[in-house]
Amino acid sequence: MRFTRSKALVVAVGLALSLAACGDAGSDDTETTDVDVAENAADKFEDGTAMKELAEDGSITIGVKFDQPGIGFKGATDDAPKGFDPEIGKILAADLGIPADKIKWKETISANREPFLQEGEVDLVIASYSITDERRAIVGQAGPYYVTGQQLLVRSDSDIESIEDIKGLDVCSVTGSTSLDNVKAEGAKPRGFDTYSECVDQVLDGTVDAMTTDGAILLGYAAENPDELKVVVDPFSEERYGVGYSPDRPEMCQWITDTLEKAEEDGAWDEAFEATLGQSGVETPDAPALDECA
Ligand code: GLU
Repeated sequence: MRFTRSKALVVAVGLALSLAACGDAGSDDTETTDVDVAENAADKFEDGTAMKELAEDGSITIGVKFDQPGIGFKGATDDAPKGFDPEIGKILAADLGIPADKIKWKETISANREPFLQEGEVDLVIASYSITDERRAIVGQAGPYYVTGQQLLVRSDSDIESIEDIKGLDVCSVTGSTSLDNVKAEGAKPRGFDTYSECVDQVLDGTVDAMTTDGAILLGYAAENPDELKVVVDPFSEERYGVGYSPDRPEMCQWITDTLEKAEEDGAWDEAFEATLGQSGVETPDAPALDECA
């Protein structure tokens, strides 16, 4: 079955309740999967395409978050990041014949995702990267491979219960994210940081009243500090995570879409979810329907 808007929000709420109850979305619980790597992959791509080039190179650079437990997280002693986004990266790389140990992972924060793609710093961005018309006007975004919704993270003793309660309050998020604009529209005073970890610290020490971003990201932080933090309010946006690619490589769209579709059909998407966000105990949702490439 395919995702609808209301279903996406139901799943987001379900994820919220399950993770809040289990409180274990931290990086330590996230697993990694073995993905089947295609043989002679370069043969199936046309000359002159980005896919052929990458397959022949045998390596790919993928931008992911390093500070989002369950989605994209790399601890100080970890060799590679873990989470649902890196798992999606492994699935795409495997289709090019590139094994996980030949992927170069590059830390990407919200504000540098478009510049990294435009300047060729990375081949793909898979970093809780919502598909928007503004972004699609300057970079490529294929997907969505996951749908979540924006919520609030507050201290456990906070009275904030509904989105109306944030009017006039200090709410932090990350510069370059969709989240800051959304809370501004709700009447909050937006406070922008480079990373979510900085923003969480401000909530914990009481400098700001709440942090806001996608529910799936907030739950990872709440799970790490279950006595001090909680996730509140029904999701008030729909965030459709896409895979970013260079605007100079439009041929990547159909390849990404076909590879994601195959992963949704052959169980690789389910496995990736179960090993990462699903470690909280939440039921694996239906994978979302993919947009057509222009
Ligand atoms: N998904 C939202 C965005 O792409 C918020 C999360 C993030 O910044 O990574 O802007």
